[in-house]
Amino acid sequence: MLSFPIYLDYNSTTPVDGEVLNEMLPLFNKNFGNPASKTHKYGWEAEEYVEIAREKIADLIHATPHEIIFTSGATEAINLGIKGVAEYAHEKGNHIITCKTEHKAVLDTCHSLEKNGFEITFLETDSNGHIDLNILLKSIRKETLLVCLMYANNETGVIHPIEEVSEITRSKNVLLFVDGTQGVGKIPVDVEKSRIDLMAFSSHKIYGPKGCGALYLRRKNPRVTLVPQMDGGGHERGFRSGTLNTAGIVGFGKAAEICSSRMEHDYKLIETLRNKLENALTSDKNIHVNGDTKNRLPNVSNLSFGKMDGAFLITSLKNIAIASGSACTSANPEPSHVLLAMGLTKQKTGSSVRFSLGRFTTEEEIDYTIEYVLEVVKKLNKI
Ligand SMILES: *Cc1c(COP(=O)(O)O)cnc(C)c1O
Repeated sequence: MLSFPIYLDYNSTTPVDGEVLNEMLPLFNKNFGNPASKTHKYGWEAEEYVEIAREKIADLIHATPHEIIFTSGATEAINLGIKGVAEYAHEKGNHIITCKTEHKAVLDTCHSLEKNGFEITFLETDSNGHIDLNILLKSIRKETLLVCLMYANNETGVIHPIEEVSEITRSKNVLLFVDGTQGVGKIPVDVEKSRIDLMAFSSHKIYGPKGCGALYLRRKNPRVTLVPQMDGGGHERGFRSGTLNTAGIVGFGKAAEICSSRMEHDYKLIETLRNKLENALTSDKNIHVNGDTKNRLPNVSNLSFGKMDGAFLITSLKNIAIASGSACTSANPEPSHVLLAMGLTKQKTGSSVRFSLGRFTTEEEIDYTIEYVLEVVKKLNKI
């Protein structure tokens, strides 16, 4: 039985996995202790729960548990990582490199630093969404502190060659900050192998609860440090004060564990369904894929619909839940900054919509979506 609208917006957020929810429930009223309470069993127990979750989350990205700092989500982790390093190292330099197709959380954090005297280089991409590594290399100066790049793009799914990027940042003694929010949990992300120095990611994009995320902060080769952005009780080894969201963290931990064990299985199934959807829709000559289709997440299909207005199309597609550009900017319906940065025309950008599939997407849903979208497009074309 299909239930409407069919959810195809997993890059905006995911439902909490049933197993995750079950693990979280006791943390609200039974094991409700504060992990910072060191004087009784309630506190000790809560701390144990948090540390078990920390291990599972570290495992998912091949880090060690003490390299994980819990935050309220990826946005906070991005602010903490980028502003924290900038503040810590501002005497060494004032230059940061990022890319025009980054998430607003990264771009706006960089703009905020710009107002405080930092210089930011916003790299261009080609029409596939890729940066030019030679230009990246040439952009690094002796004042450069950080290169901030996302693992995978939330709108197009395009995956940056992080290992090649880190080869460059390492050779130049510059730190590499990665927004891993869309890559972690979907594809293997290994901070050791990829020599990532800092990485932000989020629970609610990997079937955990909202309001919980993490910053990976490398402890050796090199040991990275930063200035905390919140003052208080010195939680999380002083890097992020505030009572821990224990239920959220336990859910995040379970979600990470499930992703670790199901990744290959989910990847194949989701990719097969995405390809089925994409191949069927692009059989219409007016419908095109945006972004590189080789180095891409398995669950995303960003499509432009010819002369159609994307916003109008989405309103007409009442039976499916999809996004225009990025959901995070759709509060103000501007054309996608990502697609524009890739050089798409305003018109093509305006006709683009994002389908993002997930663990609970079924073949039945995709079959329905294919027929439904093609039918609605046909109808709209007649008008
Ligand atoms: C969702 C998302 C964020 C923001 O994450 P929150 O946990 O919601 O703050 C940042 N970057 C990317 C690439 C995202 O997809």
